[in-house]
Amino acid sequence: MCIRDRLKPVLIDRGEPVEIRGRHVSGLMHRGELKPDSNICFGEGGAGTWSDGKLYTRVSDYRVRHILETIVELGGPERILIDAKPHLGTDKLVALCKAFRARLLEADCEVRFSSFVEGIEVERTAAGDRVRGVRLRGGELVEADRVVLAAGHSAREMYHWLLGAKVHMEPKPFAVGFRVEHPQSLINSIQYGQWSESKTLPTADYRLAANFNKNTPEHRGVYSFCMCPGGQVVPSSTLEGGVCVNGMSHASRKGHWANSALVVSVKPQDFGAFGHDDEGPLGGLVFQEEAERRAWDLAGGGFIAPAQRLSDYKAGRVSADVRKTTYKPGIASADLTGCYPEFVTEHLKRALDAFERRMPGFVTEDALLIGVETRTSSPVQVVRDDDTLESVSLGGLYPCGEGAGYGGGIVSAALDGLRIAERILDDLAETSASA
Ligand SMILES: Cc1cc2nc3c(=O)[nH]c(=O)nc-3n(C[C@H](O)[C@H](O)[C@H](O)COP(=O)(O)OP(=O)(O)OC[C@H]3O[C@@H](n4cnc5c(N)ncnc54)[C@H](O)[C@@H]3O)c2cc1C
Repeated sequence: MCIRDRLKPVLIDRGEPVEIRGRHVSGLMHRGELKPDSNICFGEGGAGTWSDGKLYTRVSDYRVRHILETIVELGGPERILIDAKPHLGTDKLVALCKAFRARLLEADCEVRFSSFVEGIEVERTAAGDRVRGVRLRGGELVEADRVVLAAGHSAREMYHWLLGAKVHMEPKPFAVGFRVEHPQSLINSIQYGQWSESKTLPTADYRLAANFNKNTPEHRGVYSFCMCPGGQVVPSSTLEGGVCVNGMSHASRKGHWANSALVVSVKPQDFGAFGHDDEGPLGGLVFQEEAERRAWDLAGGGFIAPAQRLSDYKAGRVSADVRKTTYKPGIASADLTGCYPEFVTEHLKRALDAFERRMPGFVTEDALLIGVETRTSSPVQVVRDDDTLESVSLGGLYPCGEGAGYGGGIVSAALDGLRIAERILDDLAETSASA
């Protein structure tokens, strides 16, 4: 019997399986009803389930092929193995999650949904602190001598209980901004010109970037992120009293609208820019929460998002009206400069000039800016040892994926999970060989 066969993994998720989660996501979109544990960010499949399912990463690693092949084995389309920019789309992702769950169950993994982890149990010994398991809401202790912590970038409670358990964390740069939505026909015509009506070309995408004060400590980047051709803007809020948005699309990318985040880089030294006290490693969370709260207040609540025509934002005037959008539960015209400190507004407006030069017609009254996009990656890193991949302060805890600061997308988070699984198997093999 190999080490792998002796393991008894338990997958714990606060959210619901995709069949139920789908109803909750719909309830948020259509009725503004938020389930705090089952939404666009939480539940089976994690944050990437209701997404565009882009499967490309800038990380070069032989395991990427294994990830794509596993997706194909589970029913994903074979074209992802050869496409330059492979993507799945929400419709494919939901089915994949069910197949992946079946695979885990077959491999004797216990899968527990609706199980909110509210703390980590630590054994304090002379040799150092070591994990003993996790505590679930309601009090149950799930004992484990190794815990892979992959709770995603929206698990804000987690950072607080990690801080309470004295797990070492550091603030980390991230980026904030808005989602911009254009008619897809406009993006096609900017990118393809006279061929924009061609049926053989894929729905057009774009990637924009502007850098200010490059190679100086004041460097600031402004860039498009997570572009969703033919997509839909979605509510990615996880708490009442705050609005944040993101984007998704279906496999066909046949929708009439194109959306993308437009974001400005934020460094730990900016975290106090709203005037809050120094929150140590959690300063970035406070920054995100303040922007989301301001967006909520500007739009009047109920997960309605504040919005402004892009040309009006650039010109500094509130839009007299805002056109229809794919964002459900709806938008309200507002002055979006109120969402962020001045440096965000200033850099984003400057970058719009560069974007317009690169894609003439991009800054138009037909484009809507919708607020706010704050969860581009985690603002905190749970620091781990480069070799053992364990937390530097707590033995047996493996910070993993985007929430811990080691991934920024579906594939890079999966890659990080694979690296950790391999490290644990190697470690167990060494221990059993020396026993
Ligand atoms: C709308 C949207 C669209 C996106 N589109 C793309 C895209 O096209 N391509 C791309 O590469 N990336 C995309 N991303 C980003 C991508 O989804 C994430 O980078 C990726 O999912 C991170 O994986 P992860 O495993 O680290 O965390 P997650 O996928 O966030 O998973 C974390 C899991 O932990 C669970 N959890 C959290 N807290 C607790 C707790 N206390 N107790 C128990 N369980 C808990 C959650 O329910 C969740 O299932 C998108 C994100 C969103 C929100």
